[in-house]
Amino acid sequence: MKILCFILFILSYIGGYPAPTVPNEIGNIMIVMYHGLSDTNKYDRSSEGFLSDLQKLYDNGYRLLSLHDLIDGNITTPAGYTPVVLTFDDGKQTTFSLREDEGELVPAEGCMVDMLNEFCEEHPDFGKAATFFVYGSDDTFKGAGTLEQRFAYLLENGYEIGNHTLSHANLKNLGAARIQEEIGLLDQRLRLQCGEGYLPRAIAFPNGERPGAENLRAYAADGECNGEAYHYDWALRVGESTVTANPFHIKFEPLNVPRVIGADESNAAYAVHDLGYFLRYYEDNPEAKYISDGDPETVTVPKELTHLVNGEAAEGMGVRVEVYREIWRTKFVGNYSIMPRA
Ligand SMILES: [Zn+2]
Repeated sequence: MKILCFILFILSYIGGYPAPTVPNEIGNIMIVMYHGLSDTNKYDRSSEGFLSDLQKLYDNGYRLLSLHDLIDGNITTPAGYTPVVLTFDDGKQTTFSLREDEGELVPAEGCMVDMLNEFCEEHPDFGKAATFFVYGSDDTFKGAGTLEQRFAYLLENGYEIGNHTLSHANLKNLGAARIQEEIGLLDQRLRLQCGEGYLPRAIAFPNGERPGAENLRAYAADGECNGEAYHYDWALRVGESTVTANPFHIKFEPLNVPRVIGADESNAAYAVHDLGYFLRYYEDNPEAKYISDGDPETVTVPKELTHLVNGEAAEGMGVRVEVYREIWRTKFVGNYSIMPRA
């Protein structure tokens, strides 16, 4: 540990990335929420904006992690870097669609998956991962191929598929039976369409709305529909990240996981806590973000932050907590706040 701190400390003086000097594996992790591509819809991103997001993430030391790895606490991000998870809701055609090219099915030119593929190819150390939350629409990833072929392409190319309910339902106003129907029926469909061996593990709440009554919220994780049980590990919402998406943090709630809107509209009221905002925030406050020690089997935290670690959760994921007490003192002592204030 001491040696790693020293190496990172030295690296920080060489210039370029990494700026942070030591690991902080109880810092914040962003899950970014995208939909499709357009210049007009506020939840969409322009092609230029999406590409610029990827470039900024890359340049600022973020590396792609799959949602399933984050769920498992298997954070394989190299030392000194910060994991980031990309998610895409609604199965839009501009997000992903296939076209035929000499008898082969390939991503349509200019769709987000095509752009992401290309960016990851040009920056192999960025990693490659993303999760696509779909609902039961006939237009899911509209284009060439069957729905099964579209899902197969994603799964075979390092991506994941998640549950966004059968009818894109607002779960806030639904009772127990309807919630389980919305999640369970899509779960059954997805497992058929994705083929054996693939199990969707996360839900994204449509419109970011979780079930209204507290006693209904557990149905996001476990329920039953037509005699068939389902299970989900995490449920993701939308909007301001007032709690962290770090599974080792004491404030982390697996069924209320925050996502950052994939936008950079610092002047728009809806996007106060968007990706652009957070990129700037973490540039100014690198100690607030998760910085990897490079070892997925440990959660390495400065002594001053050990009270934020959920030891039981870490143990459940087979991860060891390691505490250190050097170098960072001036940054961490005092009124350190784990979350930025708006
Ligand atoms: Zn949606």
